[in-house]
Amino acid sequence: MTDLEIARKASLKPIAEIAAKLGIPQHSLEPYGKSKAKLPLNLIDKTQAAKAKLVLVSAISPTPAGEGKTTMSIGLTEGLNLLGKKTTVVLREPSLGPVFGIKGGATGGGHAQVLPMEDINLHFTGDFAAIEKAHNLLAALIDNNIQSKTNTLQLDPRTISWKRVVDMNDRSLRNIIVGLGGTGSGIPRETGFDITAASEIMAILCLAEDLLDLKTRLGNIFIGYTFDKQPIYAKDLKAQGAMTALLKDAVKPNLVQTMEGNPAIIHGGPFANIAQGTNSVIATRMGMTLSDYVVTEAGFGFDLGAEKFFDIKCQSAGISPSVVVLTTTIRALKYHGGAALSDLKSPDSEVLRKGMPNLEKHLENIKQFNVTPIIAINKFLTDSDEEIAVIQATAKKLGVAVAIANVWEQGGNGALDLAQKVIDIADAAHQPFTPMYDWKSPVKEKIETIAKKIYGAKHVDYTAQAKQDLKKIADLGLEHLAICIAKTQKSLSDNPKLLGRPKDFMITVRQIEIAAGAGFLVPITGNIMRMPGLPAHPASEHIDIDKDGVISGLF
Ligand code: ADP
Ligand code: MG
Repeated sequence: MTDLEIARKASLKPIAEIAAKLGIPQHSLEPYGKSKAKLPLNLIDKTQAAKAKLVLVSAISPTPAGEGKTTMSIGLTEGLNLLGKKTTVVLREPSLGPVFGIKGGATGGGHAQVLPMEDINLHFTGDFAAIEKAHNLLAALIDNNIQSKTNTLQLDPRTISWKRVVDMNDRSLRNIIVGLGGTGSGIPRETGFDITAASEIMAILCLAEDLLDLKTRLGNIFIGYTFDKQPIYAKDLKAQGAMTALLKDAVKPNLVQTMEGNPAIIHGGPFANIAQGTNSVIATRMGMTLSDYVVTEAGFGFDLGAEKFFDIKCQSAGISPSVVVLTTTIRALKYHGGAALSDLKSPDSEVLRKGMPNLEKHLENIKQFNVTPIIAINKFLTDSDEEIAVIQATAKKLGVAVAIANVWEQGGNGALDLAQKVIDIADAAHQPFTPMYDWKSPVKEKIETIAKKIYGAKHVDYTAQAKQDLKKIADLGLEHLAICIAKTQKSLSDNPKLLGRPKDFMITVRQIEIAAGAGFLVPITGNIMRMPGLPAHPASEHIDIDKDGVISGLF
């Protein structure tokens, strides 16, 4: 059965019933149809939220298929609820573009999914569309200002870094020229499109504390320079008010349900390389206000998504996870041990053993944040007992808790052991986490700390461009911002080919982008894709809808 077929078999409860589980009064709920609702921000109570336990689900360095963090987060939430803990899973919203690209959803899989999956994977409640509009409003205001004879900021069109966005994998929009067609149709300049999830507004929305903080951050978006080399921000175009107005509903978290009828809050979806890669602070805090446990996910492997989760999101919001679940798959460990992608299904304990150092490094990294890890073995049908024993033996040797989680096949019942161990660790955790760096430290020191301590690099190198960017950041007075390193997820290093646990490597920072509204700097290593393309045979070829509106072929 496909994920969609399994999802359709589950009975969907009215959303008011899910809200009632969380004690949300009927009049506070803002329903979007029968099974989705927006939650107003006045439900958030920081004091209440501080009492909840936050469980972060991360993973070892993934294979291209993904190692099941979302699936694990949902399954663990079902398990915790089965054990009587009031638990909400808080996740990102899927990006629409990839839905039509390569198969693979973002709403979990098998018997651990969130519903209604067709809606969540397609337009959902329109948040991405609103973000797209707010983003493109600023782009239109910029080009309008360049065109204007009276209202001009004297923006140098060649310095403008703000592009346009659309939620589609459309590579032919990566580089474009706007303003063609004569004097009445704008000033020609080179620009391009990114996918909506890569918009700085997505990152901003997900870090904002409330509506006013959102507005302030939107005003701080850096756009470019005047001909006199003065920096221009969105607030110089008086853009932030209208942009925030467009986001008035998008800022509210979305309530849906898991397959076993437990609450799921799904909100925001920033990239995990050029942005923080995790759902909104508002959604996390909403979940923590309304339940005793919140399970949430950070994108890609621990080095990439979870480091940002701690150092950007948690530092910014003042929240702290009580435990980190490190999702581990036998197939990924074999991949790190040198197995070919095509061989990952055949049992091979020897090659698995060779891949273990990748897992060990991620465990060390979690401990550097002063948080206790637990290894969750995401069970696949092809895993052998001998292979599982290898991981269990390593866990024992390292004194780390481990649980086999068979949530894909069994839902919450497959996560009972994991859930109990998560409760035990979370109950024993009392310290706030230790950040990797102080935001106030010099930029190079912050980058080096992450590169050396988390990635295991020996040295950080800067290209001439990156050195210029460092100077620009200093001139703009933005050295106090957090660091969001854009790096491949495939390796602990910046070279996707270095699998396992690479050592003595160098990280090269090619350039450093500024996300002043979001509040971080983005040192770019390697090639980072902000506008994906479609494959030769896109998944859209298999997606269909019948006369009754029933969708097929969506995962
Ligand atoms: P991540 O969040 O880490 O990217 P997902 O949870 O989205 O990973 O899972 C990636 C894909 O792998 C999904 O299509 C999911 O259905 C599938 N998957 C996850 N766990 C299992 C499993 N144990 N067995 C089979 N398929 C799985
Ligand atoms: Mg995921």
